[in-house]
Amino acid sequence: MSTDAPMFCVNHPHTETLLRCNKCGKPVCLKCVEWTPVGYRCKECLNVQQAGYYTATRLDYTLTALIGAITSALAGAVAAWLGGLWLITIFYAPAAATGIAEIIRYAIGKRRGKYLALVACAVFIIGGFVGAGALARLTWSAFRFDLARFAARVFLDIGVWIFIALGASTVYARLRS
Ligand SMILES: [Zn+2]
Ligand SMILES: [Zn+2]
Repeated sequence: MSTDAPMFCVNHPHTETLLRCNKCGKPVCLKCVEWTPVGYRCKECLNVQQAGYYTATRLDYTLTALIGAITSALAGAVAAWLGGLWLITIFYAPAAATGIAEIIRYAIGKRRGKYLALVACAVFIIGGFVGAGALARLTWSAFRFDLARFAARVFLDIGVWIFIALGASTVYARLRS
């Protein structure tokens, strides 16, 4: 085969191209190729690469949600207990969130998932508020349950918000890669 002969894209037999995937060597047109840090790759090779990169199973996602919910609720209860001591919360939240992220990572055998960090982050926010609310409710057992006061206690607590904001971003950053 002469190198002067025009090459045609494997997916578009009528489109002439000068590009080749640098993994499999197939000629591909501009529509079928993506520039990556390691050179031009065809879509097929990119998909294989990503499938190998993301190894988390459905069970890993379930574990992430379960473990995340329990640990985040406990950590949230502590944040509510700290209450007005939010200067402590500034240090406590990232530390607790790092611990939660490490527990999750260990539980799922360090496998990676495209949406694992997002799931853990969402569960942390929900679990954190629920935990904080549960503690607020416990310390209030003498009173009749009042939803408005209960919500005010949790959602107007600056310490809880600091905990949620710092903790959620820490969990996300820790589990992203
Ligand atoms: Zn390829
Ligand atoms: Zn093409």
